[in-house]
Amino acid sequence: MPHASPLITILVIGLTLAFGLGMLANRLGISVLVGYLLAGVAVGPFTPGFVADQALALQLADIGVILLMFGVGLHFSVKDLLAVRAVALPGTLLQVLLSSAAGMGLALLMGWTIQAGLVFGLTLSVASTVVLMRALDEQRLMETERGHLAIGWLVIQDLITVLVLVLLPTLAPLLKGGAAHAPALPHLAWTLAITLGKVVAFVALMLVVGRRALPAALHYVARIGSRELFRLALLAVALGVAFVASELFGVSLALGAFVAGMVLSESALSQHAAEETLPLRDAFAVLFFISVGMLFEPATLLRQPASLLAPLAIVFIVTPAIVFATLCVLRQSLRTALTLAAGLSQIGEFSFILATLGVDLGLLDAPARSLVLAVSILSILLNPLAFLLVGLLGPWADRLDSRHEGAAAHEATAAASTLDAHAVVVGYGRVGALVVDGLLRQGWPVLVIETGDVTVKPLRERGIETILGNAADPATLTAANIPAARLLVVAIPEAFEAGQVVAQARAANPTITIIARAHFDSAVDHLRHLGANVVIMGEREIAHAMLDHAEHDLSPGPAMPLRATTPEPIPPQPRGTTRVLPTDGAIRI
Ligand code: AMP
Repeated sequence: MPHASPLITILVIGLTLAFGLGMLANRLGISVLVGYLLAGVAVGPFTPGFVADQALALQLADIGVILLMFGVGLHFSVKDLLAVRAVALPGTLLQVLLSSAAGMGLALLMGWTIQAGLVFGLTLSVASTVVLMRALDEQRLMETERGHLAIGWLVIQDLITVLVLVLLPTLAPLLKGGAAHAPALPHLAWTLAITLGKVVAFVALMLVVGRRALPAALHYVARIGSRELFRLALLAVALGVAFVASELFGVSLALGAFVAGMVLSESALSQHAAEETLPLRDAFAVLFFISVGMLFEPATLLRQPASLLAPLAIVFIVTPAIVFATLCVLRQSLRTALTLAAGLSQIGEFSFILATLGVDLGLLDAPARSLVLAVSILSILLNPLAFLLVGLLGPWADRLDSRHEGAAAHEATAAASTLDAHAVVVGYGRVGALVVDGLLRQGWPVLVIETGDVTVKPLRERGIETILGNAADPATLTAANIPAARLLVVAIPEAFEAGQVVAQARAANPTITIIARAHFDSAVDHLRHLGANVVIMGEREIAHAMLDHAEHDLSPGPAMPLRATTPEPIPPQPRGTTRVLPTDGAIRI
């Protein structure tokens, strides 16, 4: 029997095992990441049984990072990045400096050399993009101001890592051999200038040329009407730009992909693009965690458990404390400071890369790299705990924040609303916004639940009570005071989440009227079954409205049946309208 290729083996065994262990973790109520990491440990070289190809796993993980950062970029405009720079730039610089100093101090205490301490300190100071992005996504913080700040923070950490990776080989002789081996100052300045110049050239090229050419190319493909070609074009853009960024401009794959996504984010296609790449992105992100798990040597834990604790404390306690204090000094809300502190309480891919370079340059020894890996895995495992803590401290933070700001919007965990006989609207998008306006005109007291804080800003300004958060989260519904409400309008498109909202609301209030939104017949049945009184199927309503128009606006009267009329030539479609293309799906242009 022919043997399967290493690629197929790792995909099949890795993903199947990750699925099984992820399910188990989910059933046990812990983060699925734990399951993915353990799957990696199981197929790794340090545990008995099947050993997957490690180099291959790392390459697959890189694809995961590219797709992930591309997706993040699609939700993030240049404007968003500029909006957070005043806080993210000084904050990140200070945090990386102080966290590195703490790591270096620890290394010196352990009797390591200064150069080893420097590299070690840097590895402890930069967080994993993948872990933070997943956490933001899970907590639905991607579209919030603090989510944007976290992304800005990561981008600057990424740039710092790129600079360190380029400068370290030049500085290595000086670090190892003292002043006698110092590279000439002009040489150092030249290397620095070239590195920065390449980053600037890449960003400028993308902003000037890419910003026009890439959306135009994608619009062109979208107009052809083939969904398959559109998906392929997206993959080509994400992977291609990341590859060119790293090969020609020395920018990391992650940063390259992020910038590619960002230049597309202002195009009308970005939402569609984000949805198209989602399934692939999720699968490859799982492979990232498997590849991290594979690097882990469980024996490190047993050999030197005590020596792990101190660096872990730097990552899990000292860095978050620095982030928290820095953001408080920079006058950010306590909620923002807590969220970023939790998000940055882990290290990952950048730390492995830095540690490996340190070993290659002879600055760090191999056991130190194992230590960094062990700390990284433990910190990734502990990271959900940090977010749990944010959930617990959240109400306290919100109370203090609102005392300062008098904000009308509050987080899900804040005290329950005091509204009575009110209408709760879940989702303030294209549908929810119209519903809210209508209900207000009818004189209803309205409360809105929405995940995006930028989206609800206008509501907040109008003094309408708003809860920021995922409505499927029980704490959010409790905060909306569902038992006292008379009407619940679930105006979100995702049927599974809508189902969770409907079921919980029905359990909390048997008499409330629940109106839900759906896009498929199966979703209508699902939502009805869970307790919705009325389910509006969007597509059916569109069809009815179209027929109504055909009947009332264009009706030719009995003497001239519709099909006998000469059809008017259809004028060319302006941009920004929706066309149903002759394929398996509609593409919005
Ligand atoms: P649209 O499809 O344009 O009506 O937008 C749906 C809106 O619902 C968006 O603004 C989303 O941010 C919001 N949304 C989606 N899921 C949830 C959820 N689980 N909880 C609260 N808001 C949500």
